[in-house]
Amino acid sequence: MTTYLPTFDDNLLERLRGAVRGDIIEPDDPGYDEARKVYNAMHDKRPAIIVRAVDAGDVIATVDFAREQNLLLAVRGGSHSVPGHGTCDGGVVLDLGRMRGIRVDPEARTVRAEGGCTWADVNHATHAFGLATTGGVVSSTGIGGLTLGGGMGYLARRCGLSCDNLVSVDLVTADGRFLTCTEDHHPDLFWAVRGGGGNFGVVTSFAYRLHPVADILGGPTFYPLDGDVMRGYRRLIAESEENLGALLVVTLGPPLPFLPERWHGRPVCAVITCWTGSEAEDDRVRARLAEIGPIVGQHVGRIPYPVINTLFDALLPAGLYHYWKGHFSRGLPDPAIDAHLTYGATIPSLESATVIFPIDGACHRVGPEETAFVYRDSDFATALSPALTTRADCEATIDWTRDYSSALQPHSAEGGYVNFMDQDDQDRVRVNYRQNYDRLTELKQRYDPGNLFRLNHNIRP
Ligand code: FAD
Repeated sequence: MTTYLPTFDDNLLERLRGAVRGDIIEPDDPGYDEARKVYNAMHDKRPAIIVRAVDAGDVIATVDFAREQNLLLAVRGGSHSVPGHGTCDGGVVLDLGRMRGIRVDPEARTVRAEGGCTWADVNHATHAFGLATTGGVVSSTGIGGLTLGGGMGYLARRCGLSCDNLVSVDLVTADGRFLTCTEDHHPDLFWAVRGGGGNFGVVTSFAYRLHPVADILGGPTFYPLDGDVMRGYRRLIAESEENLGALLVVTLGPPLPFLPERWHGRPVCAVITCWTGSEAEDDRVRARLAEIGPIVGQHVGRIPYPVINTLFDALLPAGLYHYWKGHFSRGLPDPAIDAHLTYGATIPSLESATVIFPIDGACHRVGPEETAFVYRDSDFATALSPALTTRADCEATIDWTRDYSSALQPHSAEGGYVNFMDQDDQDRVRVNYRQNYDRLTELKQRYDPGNLFRLNHNIRP
């Protein structure tokens, strides 16, 4: 049998097999090449073992196995980690993708979702009850990595970050303990997982608070790439109620029927709206969109909330080559807008975008030290998120992204959002957590002194 572990002991593998109900996939198994793939094609790694867990017992057995064998452990939820933290060479991949159980409690307005769920799973389940919580804007993103890093989406202004909506998590710690963490039970861990990423254990299930959100007014409005349009968007966010979720996207005009052909492939701004207020006010929202600047294409209407979170899905299938950078900012300063105009003019592909998420409103009502997610004074989180269909131009695109990020840095906070960062941002971890970093380090020392969970934006014990 081919193995990538020089000290591998077949007896221990047999013991793991006895303990795991899910799949254990090794390099010689027929499904191996499919099972080792992650969303970002930049990462082509060959783990020694992939465990596709089906329950908390499988997770505990796998964590124990990796720790006892001193093996590198990669934890994978939805697999969207841009730095490829869901895979590794020669170690163990713990894939939670088969753990997708969901239970909505419509009376308590909560949902408990297993660690391998995507936002498509959660949005579908909660929409049946006219409820929702803040989640990602692409439906295939995992709830796991997104929530543990913070979690931004259309509902953030009204409902807070995904992590702000957590009411409890079931967590398997590095020593294989299963802990239910809430404000009252293991509050230190509950604090740390709300922003601290996958550093503290494997979350087998997340319980979130839900909000009444059913059908919304949503969709994209396209404008020319122009400073006045970006300033118009800035005004829209500053002046609108919190139930207006609206992302600003700088991208190339997609070849879609509602966008005239002359805009296809040309740099544009798009405002993606998700108005969760009353239908009676839809016309007022449309009028505000018209005030931003000259509309060159629009596809906005009443749709179920889950649909707005599938808008980018077809454009962003698994298997593209991604390289990202993340920034936080107070307001959208004019020099930052200038940088967006400069780099937006040379955006590398249809799949590439700069996405600006507003994180004011309810996100600001949580104090910087109430959760590990610290940037409560930022109004916007910006993702520079180029993606390519082939590897050929990756080097040039990485350089372009780094230059763009350097141009934004003087007009941004020192740290950025961990979920929009790449592997070469590890030296920013301290500034990403500001004054919370020392407390996170202490908790890491207490709960994971051996740094078993280190494939992440790593808080070192
Ligand atoms: P994975 O690769 O499966 O996991 C990433 C890391 O998270 C793992 O290595 C592990 O450290 C940790 N992890 C995941 N699940 C668990 C778990 N159950 N227990 C413990 N640790 C776990 N972010 C936003 O905030 N809002 C968005 O709208 C948004 N949109 C995105 C769209 C795309 C196309 C992509 C690629 C990313 C987007 N992101 C967004 C960033 C996203 O939050 C991160 O990529 C996040 O890591 C994805 O989580 P995942 O579970 O899919 O990833």
